[in-house]
Amino acid sequence: MGRLFVVNLEGKIYSCKYCKTHLALCEDVVSKSSTVSMGKLILFNKVVNVTIGEKEERQMTTGMHAVADLFCVGCGSLVGWKYETAHEKSQKYKEGKSVLERFKFTWSRWKPLTGSIMEHTSQEVMLMIA
Ligand SMILES: [Zn+2]
Repeated sequence: MGRLFVVNLEGKIYSCKYCKTHLALCEDVVSKSSTVSMGKLILFNKVVNVTIGEKEERQMTTGMHAVADLFCVGCGSLVGWKYETAHEKSQKYKEGKSVLERFKFTWSRWKPLTGSIMEHTSQEVMLMIA
C-alpha cells in the first residue's frame, strides 16, 4: 500500500456512511433507476477514494457481470462495486461505472480562508434549497 491520498470534492457529495470520506459527486451520477435486487442503487461515472478488490463474476438480476468490490480508503468499509465487464449487450453501458450502496449524501464546500471543509447533512441541504 502506498501513501494514502484522499481527494476532497466540492459540491453535492456522496461520502462514506462510516467515516465521511468523499466518494463521488452528484454530477457524476449516471442513473438513479438501476435496480439491483435490493431497492435503488446509484450508478456513477467516477468515484474517488476507493480501493478496488478482486474481480469476480457475479450473477445479478440483469445478468452476469464481472465486478470488483470497492472499499473506502478512509475506513476500509465495503461501499459498493465497479462493473468491469457486462455480458449482456443491454448492460454494456455499465462497464467501467461504479455503484455505491453505502453512502451518505452531504453538501460540502471549501471555506475560502481556512481551506477546511464545511459539511452539511442531507437534511440541512434540504433546508438550504428550501
Ligand atoms: Zn469510510
